[in-house]
Amino acid sequence: MSDTIERVKCLIIGSGPAGYTAAIYASRANMFPVLYQGMQPGGQLTTTNDVENFPGYPDGITGPEMMIELQKQAQRFGTDVRDGWITKVDFTGPVHKVWVNETTEIHADTIIISTGASAKYLGLESEQKYLNLGGGVSACAVCDGFFYRNQEVVIVGAGDSACEEAHYLSKLCKKVTMLVRRDVFRASVIMENRVRNTENIEILFNTETEEVLGDGQVVTGVRVKNNLTGATHDIPATGFFVAIGHKPNTDIFKGWLDMDETGYIINKPGTAHTNVPGVFVSGDAADHVYRQAITAAGTGCMAALDAERYLAAVESEHTVAS
Ligand code: NDP
Repeated sequence: MSDTIERVKCLIIGSGPAGYTAAIYASRANMFPVLYQGMQPGGQLTTTNDVENFPGYPDGITGPEMMIELQKQAQRFGTDVRDGWITKVDFTGPVHKVWVNETTEIHADTIIISTGASAKYLGLESEQKYLNLGGGVSACAVCDGFFYRNQEVVIVGAGDSACEEAHYLSKLCKKVTMLVRRDVFRASVIMENRVRNTENIEILFNTETEEVLGDGQVVTGVRVKNNLTGATHDIPATGFFVAIGHKPNTDIFKGWLDMDETGYIINKPGTAHTNVPGVFVSGDAADHVYRQAITAAGTGCMAALDAERYLAAVESEHTVAS
């Protein structure tokens, strides 16, 4: 190996709650972790306004503040937090190779993947505007639904997530209007029936979003279009929820790690192990079901503990062999 290639015990990829929790545990276990923050330092929580459901914050905390606190906590124990984007990996041998920004090669004994997932959005200018303003566009009903208690909201999507989120919102909100772009649901029948049988959920089939309406600061409604008739109308709403799927940020691991058809990495049940020894996964990169900051943090802890045990086993094998 060339002298110029850095060798690390533990490389953590991603800087959401999973990555930073893994970093806290790994640094306290003397694994000297190096954490690469990726394209969106802080992860999905940086686009969330208030986090009120993470235990330990009785008054809530903003997503960006929480990520700064997590970063500080990881650095306090010695995590080396770096800017950079992992662009390529090679998991052929016992030493795992990664390339940062296509150029710098690093060799790692263990890797913890915490690259998360990205919510898909419609891509409308008005949607992005109110999303960036924190003014009423959200891709997570469990995170943000509480802010719309007794209000009217619109949700777009017709899969299991949209049904689950619409049902969740129906318990908090006065009215939920669900926009389904075709004349059928994609969701399982049981989920579809649940929304169909909920009194305060109105389902509009063959309906697409034309524009998210607002006063420049917050959402005030949604302009929708019937794609059969071309007719448009405005629906008053203070919240616009997008539930059209997530994309796990796992493209660079394709061909190396076992994944499901959407690209979620498959972990060995009850552990953070992937199919490659020494490579672990935590957070939303492996979770399409729970997708919460607290569950991501929990699996980040699991990944660090599994990595520590893996290293200890490898080191003891070397000791016995020598
Ligand atoms: P899906 O891909 O299953 O569904 C996405 C939905 O969004 C589809 O109805 C799709 O419409 C719609 N959509 C996509 N793009 C647009 C757009 N531009 N405008 C309007 N609508 C759009 O994603 P989910 O997140 O719902 O589910 C992902 C996986 O997770 C699935 O396998 C699901 O079963 C699973 N899941 C399971 C749960 C459970 O079991 N409790 C809960 C949540 C998810 P169209 O149908 O027309 O393509």
